Amino acid sequence: MKRLLKPIFCASIIAVVFFTAIFAADKLFSKELYMIKDSFSNIFGGELPKSAIHSENGYDSVNIAELLEKGAILDDSLMLINSEYPLSDDYQPALIDLSGNEVFLNPAAAKAYNEIKNAVKNKYGSSLYIMSSYRTPEEQAAAIESEGDYAAGINESEHLTGLALDVYIKYHAGMGFLDCDEGRFVNSYCQDYGFIIRYPYYGESITGIPYEPWHLRYVGFPHAKIIAENRITLEEYIESLVPGTYYYYEDYFILRQSKNEAFSVPEGIYDIIISPDNTGFYIITGKTN
Ligand SMILES: [Zn+2]
Repeated sequence: MKRLLKPIFCASIIAVVFFTAIFAADKLFSKELYMIKDSFSNIFGGELPKSAIHSENGYDSVNIAELLEKGAILDDSLMLINSEYPLSDDYQPALIDLSGNEVFLNPAAAKAYNEIKNAVKNKYGSSLYIMSSYRTPEEQAAAIESEGDYAAGINESEHLTGLALDVYIKYHAGMGFLDCDEGRFVNSYCQDYGFIIRYPYYGESITGIPYEPWHLRYVGFPHAKIIAENRITLEEYIESLVPGTYYYYEDYFILRQSKNEAFSVPEGIYDIIISPDNTGFYIITGKTN
């Protein structure tokens, strides 16, 4: 009898823990917040709860231009650039010279590059170099000549925005980047620095571009983490964000919205960044706490 009691006791504890977890999860997934896609983890979206809107601190009815006037920052971090959505001929990138050596990058991408470069240095003692960063349309035309399949069409290249960079470690460039710990680290953890592997090995049927473990694309937080965790491409991510739906991921708020339509921003959202997605919508990202 005594021998039977122990398993029964253990089973009871497991049952209590199990049902408590289910109860807690049920509370968490309230009606306003639900999973947007079965294959997505940790991102919830839905209607904005009315209680979240407060006219003093939140914004009851604003459009993109008004939100920018109120201090939101405009950048290009979530621009989708591919053969279906090329850059316009008059596209003007925001660039800074990374080291005074005419290595031009988007300012946010430059900051993220310095961070991942320092992480590689601290962990392995080696330097993460840039093979290619911002390219002018003329330079992209030359890249198409030399790289063939790997180089995107002129206005279809992210290199024209300064948001993309090709990196390498001494003796380990191109596919060889994966033959060293540093390259594998960059491929596994670049999302922690705001980058994605823009052309992943599992995404060729969607991106139309073969796997490029060296091509980092800055998309910022929390987008890089959502894309990496769900093993999706930027194409699939942008498409999954239903316009007008409020999404929450960790400490972030995400909303995809058309340019002129009015929308509300919940109380307490701060550090708002707005990026056009190059498909006709804007993506608003803010911090929640
Ligand atoms: Zn590249």
